[in-house]
Formats: sequence, structure tokens, C-alpha cells
Amino acid sequence: MRAVAEIIEPALSPQSVTILGATGSIGKSTLDVVAGSGGKFRIEALTAMENVSALAALARLYRPRFVAIGNPAHFAALKDALAGTGIRAGAGAEALVEAAMQPAGTVVSAIVGVAGLASTMAAAKRGARIALANKECLVAAGTLLTQAAKAGGAKLIPVDSEHNALFQVFDAARPESVRQVTLTASGGPFRTWSLEQMRSATPEMAVKHPNWAMGAKISVDSATMMNKGLELIEAFHLFPLKAEQIEVLVHPESIVHGLVEYVDGSVLAQLSNPDMRTPIACALAWPERLQAAVKRLNLAELKTLTFEAPDVQRFSALALARRALAEGVTVALNAANEAAVEAFLAGRIGFLDIAKTVEATLAKVENAEPSTLEEVFEADAQARAIAQSLLKRVAA
Ligand code: NAD
Ligand code: MG
Repeated sequence: MRAVAEIIEPALSPQSVTILGATGSIGKSTLDVVAGSGGKFRIEALTAMENVSALAALARLYRPRFVAIGNPAHFAALKDALAGTGIRAGAGAEALVEAAMQPAGTVVSAIVGVAGLASTMAAAKRGARIALANKECLVAAGTLLTQAAKAGGAKLIPVDSEHNALFQVFDAARPESVRQVTLTASGGPFRTWSLEQMRSATPEMAVKHPNWAMGAKISVDSATMMNKGLELIEAFHLFPLKAEQIEVLVHPESIVHGLVEYVDGSVLAQLSNPDMRTPIACALAWPERLQAAVKRLNLAELKTLTFEAPDVQRFSALALARRALAEGVTVALNAANEAAVEAFLAGRIGFLDIAKTVEATLAKVENAEPSTLEEVFEADAQARAIAQSLLKRVAA
């Protein structure tokens, strides 16, 4: 007789997908992969922060059972836009968590910033597969999130291209055989700029990434290279590694995304064109492989790939992130950076003030790693308040 477990359909089919942050750059690329999958995936729930019409249009197209808008002021507009569809609507921070709680086998975590932490935690606790794009969750609460995933039986599959690359080539069964991993960085739009030139960089210049089309916040993070600093912390939580085993290498073409060096001298890497649909397809289908409508890699056409060491003098955010990891103040690093990037995008401070504000905030916070989610939110609020007061002074 077969065991009952074998004949019962799994409750959580990985083919049903919830997207947290559906209207963003990762959200849209995910829906593109879903649309091209020939009906392999069904959308369970979708969320957005402000854009009601975009969210409603996606809901009408993909027919989820539930949609949530982060800003509660838009609740009535969302309900109106969905009238007659039978799709349930929610609003506010609790509705984002409710979306994550819907019985989808896969949750794509693609909200930007610590704003995505509560919903991602909820998905981890109920044992979903989490296709994780939101790196700020791991920077602010890496230990808590990975522990919750383990306890809940959830699987975290990185969508961030470098970590997805490592996920594909890291021998998880033999971590002791790994000497070092390398995250590549494009170097961003200011890779060759002097500090003097960067001083007058505008938000428009900073969000114009040479290789990737991404949301505004991560684009600025790429320009300061804080993105790679956050990714260093992300890698630390995703893989059984010491901080010293994680290296950063500038690779302007963004073709090689991550490398794993083994003790015998072998180096395994993952390569692909810079298109997020590749790591998204990998995370959705793993261990299967999905057709993705991406341009195939043609190395003969590319001819050369170049690499250089990162310059931590000009891109101090990298060193700040490493220090924050060593000192257990990564919540503050992330919070101060979120506040400073917002101020920069609003034209209130200069480009170089971003890293300066983060550094000055770190100098003022206590080195106590939070042990509960409440403590994370407390530490986050404290660091934001410190950063805001520093930002006011810079802007004055
Ligand atoms: P984006 O700004 O394009 O989209 C963000 C999404 O989150 C939108 O749907 C928006 O409505 C929603 N959102 C914004 N603020 C919110 C809030 N306070 N509460 C609830 N929802 C909110 O961002 P993105 O580029 O898609 O990036 C999303 C995440 O993925 C980020 O953490 C980023 O670092 C990570 N990531 C992005 C890329 C990329 O190529 N875009 C690559 C790797 C990692
Ligand atoms: Mg990345």
C-alpha cells in the first residue's frame, strides 16, 4: 500500500505564485516569465504600493484571488477598479502580509526595502518557496529570516543575479570544499568617475544604469556600490560562509554573475546576459528549467570580458557594509541607506552625502544585534531617525 503522503496532492503547489511588489521592475519581469511559461504557473495574489490602475490591470489580466495595495488611502479606488471581477481586495501593511499568507506555493519577494520584511517573514513561516529579490530583508533580519524559513520548511531561492548564480554553482552538500565566492559588480554608471565628478552627480545620472533596467532605489545603490555591500551581507546569510570568504569583483559587462572557488583550484561560474528573467525563471522552476524569452549568450560576439578590483576609496559604501556586518549593525546600515537614497532622489542631498550619512549614522548606533522582529523594527526606526536628523543638517 502506498503511503498517504504520496497520493495526496501537495497542499502548496509551487505552480501557484504570489508576487509581492508586482508593479515593480522585478514584479513585471516575473509576470513576463509567468506569461511565457505556457500556463505552467497560476497567480494567487499580487501587491503594489501606490499604483492602483497598474495593479488593477494586472489583476484583470492574471486573475489572482487576492490583491493588496500598500497605501490604505487607495482601498476604495482599488475596489472600484476590480468591481465585477470577483477578486478580493485589501489595503495597508496587514493586507501585504495577508497576500503572503495566501496558499501559493511560491512567493516572489520583490517589494523594495525593509517594507517587504513582514510579508516575506510570513511567507517563510508558512513554508512557501520564496523567490527572494528583496535583499534588504536579509540585510536587516538575515538570521531571523533564515531561521524562520528553516523552522517553517520554507526554501529561500535567491533571485538577485549574483546570489542566484552562486546558488547554481555552490556545492551545498560540501561547503567545506569552497574556498571563496565572488560576487561581480558592474561598477554602476560612475565606475570611471573621480570623487570630484561624483560630487555633482544628479539622480537622473545615478539611475541610468549601463546594463540593467531596475527600480530607482537599487539603481542608486548600484551607483554608490552600496548594492554590492548589501549583497555581501545577503550572501553571508544565504550561504554557509565567513565574511572573509566573500569577495567582490568589478566586471563592467555583467555577463559573469557569480563565481565559486573550490579548494582544488577549480572555479565554477554562472554566465548569462544581464536580464533578470533568467534568475527569476531559475527560482520559479528550480530544479526544473523553464524556457525564458531572453537573448542567448554569444561569447564569440562579445569577444572580451573584463575584470578589475573594486576601488573602496571612491566607493566607500562597500567598506561600510563589511564593517557593519562585522559589528552587527546591518539593520542601521540598511535603514540609513534607505533614508539617504530617498533624500538624494528627492534632490535634498548630494550623491556623496549618501555614504557619508550612512557612515555618520553607524557611528551613533549601538552594536546590539536584534534577536526578534520587533527589535529589528525598533533598530530600523532608531537608525532612520538618526539618519533623518543628519540629513536635515546636510540639506540645510
Ligand atoms: P521597484 O521600485 O521597481 O518596485 C518595487 C515594488 O515594491 C513596486 O511594486 C512597489 O509598488 C512596491 N513597493 C514600494 N514601496 C513599498 C512599500 N513601502 N510597501 C509595499 N510595497 C512597496 O523595485 P525593483 O527594482 O523591482 O526591486 C525590488 C527588490 O528587488 C529590491 O529589494 C531590489 O534590491 C531587488 N532586486 C532588484 C533587481 C532589479 O533588477 N530590479 C535585481 C536584484 C534585486
Ligand atoms: Mg544583484
